[in-house]
Amino acid sequence: MLEVKRNANNSASPPEHVKNLILGSGPAGLSAALYTARAQLEPVVLAGQEYGGQVSQTHIVENYPGFPEAVGGPELTELFRKQAERFGARVVFDTATQVDLSQRPFRVTTYEKVYLADTLIIATGATPRHLDVPGEVELTGRGVSYCGTCDGFFFKDKDVIVVGGGDSAMEEGSFLTRFANNVTVIHRREEFRAGELLLQRAQENPKMKFITNTVVNRIEGPEAVNTVELEDIVSGEKKNFKTDGVFIFIGHTPNTQLFVGQLEMDAGGYLIANQYMETSVPGVFAAGEVADPHFRQVITSAGMGAAAGIQATRFLEENP
Ligand code: NAP
Repeated sequence: MLEVKRNANNSASPPEHVKNLILGSGPAGLSAALYTARAQLEPVVLAGQEYGGQVSQTHIVENYPGFPEAVGGPELTELFRKQAERFGARVVFDTATQVDLSQRPFRVTTYEKVYLADTLIIATGATPRHLDVPGEVELTGRGVSYCGTCDGFFFKDKDVIVVGGGDSAMEEGSFLTRFANNVTVIHRREEFRAGELLLQRAQENPKMKFITNTVVNRIEGPEAVNTVELEDIVSGEKKNFKTDGVFIFIGHTPNTQLFVGQLEMDAGGYLIANQYMETSVPGVFAAGEVADPHFRQVITSAGMGAAAGIQATRFLEENP
């Protein structure tokens, strides 16, 4: 059952005690829900700010097993959700704003209410990193974007740049050529970080161009993106480059701010979880990109979610 929460008064209703609370509705969260639902834990999934997580913003997923002809990101999210709900999971459109992990049941405050959770699975994912240059914030939504699938359509027959040299830059850049006249990839080094297949596909695309050893210093409008200032980091030369759109794909930051001081994290802010998905607090598990800066695939996140679900079930058996 899908619930939409709108009331911002979290003191209005009494706390709800649940056996298993899952934060995040991406592949990790919904896979965890499938497993804990099948184990009769009646999980509640807080969908968070971005229902479905990053995959729901992905046009086509070609590497999730079982879909030889590929599957759309939003479609895959719906399939995950329906499968978890079939066994009793409850997906709620609400977001955790505060957590207290100092004792069980764990206390999770949302916009709507308070949950007391016997076990908690954190699958809050990661958020695209910003360039932090002048004009970026002001022109976000007016030419600056972090999602080709969401915004590509607005750049039909326009010229855009993609910033970054990893898999995301190549994949999203290739996708943008469906709409844009041309896509220029701006990368700060000579060598690309992207894997061979995606890089080759991008380099063979006649609509894609590449400028290396170059950074974006500023993005200019005034009303919508019009120009970027590029700097060649070898020669130091600066030049204005006309463009209608700036798509930024330079990595991610894990969504772990809520847990600072309560759970162990690595230097990058990712949650530290062991092979059983256990965090530093017994009964709290982590799955997906929030605890994985390395693989970051739908299949690996879903696998981590399943493992966290199994382990949360075992934890409750041993700690009723
Ligand atoms: P990434 O691999 O971390 O690449 C980020 C890119 O942005 C790098 O080229 C980096 O440059 C550049 N960069 C970082 N900070 C920058 C800054 N401040 N200014 C300019 N450039 C900056 O991130 P990603 O491409 O999002 O990929 C993340 C993970 O997801 C990877 O493991 C990737 O394999 C995976 N992924 C897989 C697929 C797929 O298999 N279909 C698709 C997308 C992503 P440097 O190279 O100089 O560090």
